[in-house]
Amino acid sequence: MIKLAADAQPHLAVFDDVTNEPLFFGRGRRLASQAQRLMAFGHYRSCSKDGCTTPFAHTEMHHAEADWADGGLTDSPHTAPACGRHNRAVGCEPHQWTTR
Ligand SMILES: [Zn+2]
Repeated sequence: MIKLAADAQPHLAVFDDVTNEPLFFGRGRRLASQAQRLMAFGHYRSCSKDGCTTPFAHTEMHHAEADWADGGLTDSPHTAPACGRHNRAVGCEPHQWTTR
């Protein structure tokens, strides 16, 4: 069934071996775990900034919904990959950006 589902929708990420790795750390951990990076790789193949083609392997995970300094959570739905240049430019100011 998993193999059929994996072939049915090209945008569906199917993980064959469930590891029970936590994907939600809230404020308990600042940096994304390897499991969270793998989860993000299922969605992104490069930096999450529009137009940036930096490959995922050369990105850092950033707190997309709210920056860590502003109370952001290290939860998979609230993180996204960003290359070093764009990760340093994340913020709420007009000259900055964030993943939506
Ligand atoms: Zn980038």
